[in-house]
Amino acid sequence: MLNQEQKRCLDCGKVMSYGRTDKLYCDDICRARATRKRLKQETETGHEDAHKAVIRAIKRNYALLKKAVGDREQWIVDFEPLYRKGFNRMFYTSAEPSENSLRYYCFELGWEDISEGRLQVTVNKQKLEVFDPDSFGPVNTPSNEPGEY
Ligand SMILES: [Zn+2]
Repeated sequence: MLNQEQKRCLDCGKVMSYGRTDKLYCDDICRARATRKRLKQETETGHEDAHKAVIRAIKRNYALLKKAVGDREQWIVDFEPLYRKGFNRMFYTSAEPSENSLRYYCFELGWEDISEGRLQVTVNKQKLEVFDPDSFGPVNTPSNEPGEY
């Protein structure tokens, strides 16, 4: 069973059951791979396009979760095939505590680690209310003056 003490590698998502608690990656291979991905992304998109890259990553996650859960309200899926197709657990729209860990959402589709290598995907239509464009309020262009908004 998962508990709050277990941390997951930011690249491959495997549980890191040993080592320092501030570790982000399970080993040097995952760290190097994450760095390569980041550098590749920065070279490809340039920094000013990073926002678009984040939105693309969230859309990809959403599409993969949608395909996995289908018409069901809830489903248990293997993480590995999602990961191979480009699922990236660093990109989500909201997160909330669940019984055993955290449930992350891309819009109304949530995922939660339930055991090593498996995710429970949940559909929560209430999450869509947050994305009503009216709930964001007016979009103001921030001031260029430091300390002013
Ligand atoms: Zn790893």
